[in-house]
Amino acid sequence: MHIKGRSLSLLISEEKIKERVRGLAREIEKDLGENFVVVSLLKGSFVFTADLIREFSVPVKVDFMWVSSYGSSQESSGSVRILQDLSMDIKDQKVLLVDDILDTGYTLRKVVEFLREKEPSVLKVCVLLDKKERRKVELKADYVGFEVPDKFLVGYGLDWDEEGRNLRGIYAVD
Ligand code: 5GP
Ligand code: MG
Repeated sequence: MHIKGRSLSLLISEEKIKERVRGLAREIEKDLGENFVVVSLLKGSFVFTADLIREFSVPVKVDFMWVSSYGSSQESSGSVRILQDLSMDIKDQKVLLVDDILDTGYTLRKVVEFLREKEPSVLKVCVLLDKKERRKVELKADYVGFEVPDKFLVGYGLDWDEEGRNLRGIYAVD
């Protein structure tokens, strides 16, 4: 498999993702019960979110936020901007914040601060992937799909300059 002329190595297969997403959903609904709001960060987590919500056996609501960080396309920076806020009120609601990958932590730190001001009754964080060794700020996700090595990853919603989101597995760019 190639993208922009670079070869890709499969890191996590479609089957492994499916199995893990199912496990995450079980854990999350055990903790949160029903009627929580899934807040998904665009664009990277839309595929993960779509699969995760369909594994829940309880009623949930879904909303999206769009955030971006300045800096090069492969590295997040300290300044994170909220480009699109939620459409729904989350005051006194149980909220599950979902992102594709936790890297430096700048993005989720900013979004968590932003959401806390809206006074949800509970705020939990779920990420599919965690590049633990890259963390620059103290932030721990409550639910983590997979710990991954410090490589640039694409597929399953994650892009390289907008390409690769549609790949079914998760790949490292060689
Ligand atoms: P953080 O703010 O934690 O450094 O970065 C989180 C965001 O950076 C993720 O939501 C994702 O958009 C992007 N990111 C971090 N690592 C990767 C990666 O390996 N591949 C891709 N495609 N995006 C990444
Ligand atoms: Mg992202």
